[in-house]
Amino acid sequence: MLLLDGKTVAQHVRDQLKTRVQDFQGRFRRPPHLAVVLVGADPASQVYVKNKHIACEKIGMLSTVHNLAATTTETELDALLDRLNTDSGVDGILVQLPLPKGLSAERVLEKLDPRKDADGLTYTAMGYLWAGRPFVKPCTPSGVMRILEYYKIPVAGKTAVVVGRSNIVGKPIAHLLTEANATVTVCHSKTPDVGAVTRQADIVVVAAGKPRLLGKEDFKPGAVVIDVGIHGTGGGKLCGDVRFEELEGHASAATPVPGGVGPMTIACLLENTMILAEKRAEGNAR
Ligand code: NAD
Repeated sequence: MLLLDGKTVAQHVRDQLKTRVQDFQGRFRRPPHLAVVLVGADPASQVYVKNKHIACEKIGMLSTVHNLAATTTETELDALLDRLNTDSGVDGILVQLPLPKGLSAERVLEKLDPRKDADGLTYTAMGYLWAGRPFVKPCTPSGVMRILEYYKIPVAGKTAVVVGRSNIVGKPIAHLLTEANATVTVCHSKTPDVGAVTRQADIVVVAAGKPRLLGKEDFKPGAVVIDVGIHGTGGGKLCGDVRFEELEGHASAATPVPGGVGPMTIACLLENTMILAEKRAEGNAR
């Protein structure tokens, strides 16, 4: 079984970005700048934000983190977003989700300037994606496609099943696979027999958010299995939505957890920030 190593692919993406960052710095006399907003002190979110900050610094991007208290009001968050939206030194903005109770992610997505949407999650970014004219793509779905491309997994003409239909993961992955000419089926929590559907597929992307939901019996021999799920199991260990250890000798290729899709999400965030920075700076320079 081919191990689809997200760390290797992410490193490849970061290496390419490093050159683009240097070029940008040379042309515009400043690094691309990602502003990250973290509301509250959720430990998992703190780790994600720290990892994103380190990843930015490693490739020469500027990252500023705005830590707000869990008691932050909608008005206060709006005011910060207004400031970042209009700050000409900020290229990309990311609001770490989930938000504490009382704050609405939908409101953030409406408030965020789509020209600075580093996560590719605003309704404008989604509209462009659906119209086949994306300028930034949502990070995790984009990361899944980059893994398939890097390992030259054929997608066109294949049958693909996506398990999960969230706006940020399942739906856009299904769309990107369709754009890549796969024939795509989406399963969700109301699908009566998920295994009966996934067993038909050449490529299965699992994003159900349910630890170790699917195993060997749910995939046909030779299937390509991409596991988006990520769950703590206690003691600092992580697992995905797939029972990875059952796949050896059965699947033709699979992503591990950790070290599969996760690192790609951050790499694609950096890439989106780069794209937004180039677009804005080139637009201003014209
Ligand atoms: P979500 O809870 O918003 O959506 C889960 C989807 O799975 C829903 O559409 C639901 O209908 C479906 N579902 C739930 N139980 C199911 C079942 N038993 N059978 C079939 N479908 C089922 O979650 P999400 O935000 O889409 O994230 C999915 C998973 O991916 C989570 O584990 C999350 O932590 C992980 N994730 C990982 C990354 C990464 O960088 N690796 C990024 C985002 C999300």
